[in-house]
Amino acid sequence: MKILIASPECVPFAKTGGLADVVGALPKFLKKKKHDVRLIMPKYKKIDTQKFELKPSVKGLLVPVGENTEVANVWEARLERSIPVYFIENDKYFARDELYRTATGDYLDNAERFIFFSRACLEAAKALAFQPEIIHCHDWQVGLIPVYLKTLYRIDGFFHSTATVLTIHNIAYQGLFPKEILNMAGFAWYDFTPDKLEYYDQISFLKAGIVYTDIVTTVSPTYAKEIQSSNEFGRGMEGVLHRRAGDLYGITNGIDYKEWDPTKDKYISTRYTLKSLEKKEMCKSELGKIAGLKVDENTPLIGMISRLDSLKGFDLLAQCMPDLMKENLQFVILGIGDQVYQDLLKATAKKYPGKISLNLKFDNILAHQIYAGCDFFLMPSRFEPCGLTQLIAMRYGTIPIVRQTGGLADTVEQFSSKTGTGNGFVFTEYKASALITAVKQALGLYADEKLWKQVRSNAMGSNFSWDKAVEKYIELFKRAYEKRQQQKS
Ligand code: ADP
Repeated sequence: MKILIASPECVPFAKTGGLADVVGALPKFLKKKKHDVRLIMPKYKKIDTQKFELKPSVKGLLVPVGENTEVANVWEARLERSIPVYFIENDKYFARDELYRTATGDYLDNAERFIFFSRACLEAAKALAFQPEIIHCHDWQVGLIPVYLKTLYRIDGFFHSTATVLTIHNIAYQGLFPKEILNMAGFAWYDFTPDKLEYYDQISFLKAGIVYTDIVTTVSPTYAKEIQSSNEFGRGMEGVLHRRAGDLYGITNGIDYKEWDPTKDKYISTRYTLKSLEKKEMCKSELGKIAGLKVDENTPLIGMISRLDSLKGFDLLAQCMPDLMKENLQFVILGIGDQVYQDLLKATAKKYPGKISLNLKFDNILAHQIYAGCDFFLMPSRFEPCGLTQLIAMRYGTIPIVRQTGGLADTVEQFSSKTGTGNGFVFTEYKASALITAVKQALGLYADEKLWKQVRSNAMGSNFSWDKAVEKYIELFKRAYEKRQQQKS
């Protein structure tokens, strides 16, 4: 099949979260299955043109945005030497320090930026004469592509057979804008109805995409159920999703086993396998040095790598700290994000010197060192669509302690000392007492040499490769394509 992946980010070019990892890995596996897959994303200032060998491809592409016409240049690079990646360049929209927001808030013209990008994706496909059977859209930033194909481009023969699949990486990010942008998006007021574009008197690019796309997916089966079940999980989208229940699927993300591999990782001091886990201790002491902690073998080290966001459970963690800090343990935390959580963590770290290493930055190398050097990995998430960090941690023999929600529920199984099964520790209620109990259980296991070995072996033996997930995507691409052909006839 000819597949165009439209995404606002992609590893290794630009990343703010797990979406970029997914979009960077999935095409490699589609390519392995002989599909003609290509990617399209914005050309942000952050993207290193020289390092990634970007070459100019199309110059002066005209892109309608409301009543205006904007100009885009298309650049091209390769992912793994064989997968074309197209970059849409327009300095007015994308030559800025960040992707979507600074610490003080979202860029005010995000609606216009991603209206432009969504239309540019379609115009670029035409200019490049790449006629996709599937456009696989990721998150609200490209939620309008399915809408455009069924409205403004409905009579455009080029896209006559093109179907869309929309993947929701997090329902909390909805691309919500005042209704006045309707015209700029290219629509008329008669489209502003609840069954089409209207969303609580505003416009949500994500909702629009959900309504118009052929198939909707999200990143784990549990999350697919949760987001239809209540306002708490669906954040207002539950009704729209419920109406599309027959076309909504949950596919658990994989991780890129080449990028995340303790036997070959170029960023860690000592490489190890399940059979040479004693070498992981060296990664732990190296991490201690880097993170400014006096680590020792008998003190469990707990890692956290996360966006600092209300969904990730830092408020709960702060409540637990007085109790947790009484235990023999240390923390290494790596994250950037909301100022409130930065301040909260700073205050906590200051209160317990020598126990917490706080690293408020985005640092991929340190992330690798934390996955390798820690004993445990904590994710007290309030919501978690899939979560990649617990999967990466397990690959490095670092035992996850997680709240049972979304993809965490689908991937982490409570360890049982009776049967020796399970790959981590799971708590259910979003309560300090539940988190503290889970951590204490985990610490108890750490002290038991035989069981500790068992849980690490289970974690490292869990299979979260992309091979399984890619088959499911291909099946859904075929289903979307068939649906589209039926609509035509
Ligand atoms: P989300 O998509 O909600 O941010 P995921 O667990 O799906 O969460 O993915 C997070 C990805 O981003 C992982 O690859 C993780 O290693 C990486 N990451 C998150 N924060 C940082 C950071 N501060 N520095 C380096 N990598 C980070």
